[in-house]
Amino acid sequence: MQMQPQPKAMSPHIGIYGRRNAGKSSLLNFLLGYELALVSAIAGTTADPVEKTLEVPRLGPVVFVDTAGYDDEGELGELRVQKTLASLKQVNLALLVSEGGWGEPEEEMVKLCDEKKLRLIVVWNKSDLARPPACLQEKLAGRGLPQVLVSTVNNTGLDDLVLAMLQILPEEALAPPPMLSDLIPAGESCLFVAPIDSSAPKGRLIAPQVQAMRDCLDGHLVSHIVQPQEIPAALEVLKKRPYLLVCDSQAVDECVRLAPPDLSLTTYSILMARIKGDLPFMSAGAATILGLKDGDAVCISEVCAHHAQPDDIGRVKIPNWLKKFTGADLKISFAQGRDYPADLSRYKLVIHCGGCMINRQLMLTRLAEAGRKGVPVTNYGVAISLLHGVLERSLQIFPAALEAYRKAAIEALARK
Ligand code: SF4
Repeated sequence: MQMQPQPKAMSPHIGIYGRRNAGKSSLLNFLLGYELALVSAIAGTTADPVEKTLEVPRLGPVVFVDTAGYDDEGELGELRVQKTLASLKQVNLALLVSEGGWGEPEEEMVKLCDEKKLRLIVVWNKSDLARPPACLQEKLAGRGLPQVLVSTVNNTGLDDLVLAMLQILPEEALAPPPMLSDLIPAGESCLFVAPIDSSAPKGRLIAPQVQAMRDCLDGHLVSHIVQPQEIPAALEVLKKRPYLLVCDSQAVDECVRLAPPDLSLTTYSILMARIKGDLPFMSAGAATILGLKDGDAVCISEVCAHHAQPDDIGRVKIPNWLKKFTGADLKISFAQGRDYPADLSRYKLVIHCGGCMINRQLMLTRLAEAGRKGVPVTNYGVAISLLHGVLERSLQIFPAALEAYRKAAIEALARK
């Protein structure tokens, strides 16, 4: 399933953390310049993490994630703390907000960020009322923790905070890798194939299609777009053959049939695996399908919750193709939302959706979680190409991914 174009998922995500009533929501409002988050003197007003996209000078669009205090208490408080901690999986940078105090909760957050290799800035909030002791600031500076003093009341410190964020945000979060423009030499073109069938959304293109075309425009490349049936006509009218054909996963076998065998070809979903995740890892993951046996458990994971349609890609088509391809009696289960099932280790394979609505950080965290448990992961597009017998062709333009797939395929077949 694909929805609206989602530039938000390509923007850096910055989490705002701190004890209850440390001024996290007022800091978000300070950044936003208006009252978005409910600011209250009563501790623990923020429940679920609140996401807000803001155009920050010099940083561009940034998604700020305002969270509940991680020192929250009680049954509900525990749930809020869990959600706060879960949000660490998706952010590229953490702002640790404090009114000047420092204790176990702050140390705990620094430790968590260290473990996740997540960069962090200490934001001393309410600096108009009280400043943190100089010895504390020195001690933290000695540990390499960047600090910024702000006052949301006096409107001071915003420039320093933006500068610190600019310096500390990982390069990749500020300039995500191109989707495909780096694959196509200057002066060459790309042929996009977009089937308009019953599964296509009315009146618009799906997010990965729009994103791929926009990337070609950014790269000053020539793009053409057709439906699968028009591939031969397009090749006929074009004076020079396109360098690459990009098609919808569900039309990949048709496009392979219609396109000349020496024309490089891949799918939007494989491109999503490339920019959102780790294409070699997910290509190796797809090879697991070759070794699936009766009773093996497969998790199909989708980020967005929706009602399954009769021809639903995740709920219906992929399970049917899997059963037909493997001939095995598989235990297929489905996961929806931003979290994996708690017991991931019981699965032989996770087949993940394209992830167009989540950022790369969250997808990489998901891959790492599965990797730690030794569970291979692939995505819809890579799996569909394999299930249609055209994966080697779809990966030809990505030599590292093709090699990873071939190596894992030999191992999977040997284990069978
Ligand atoms: S994130 Fe996944 S489920 Fe949601 S629209 Fe994108 S591909 Fe579909």
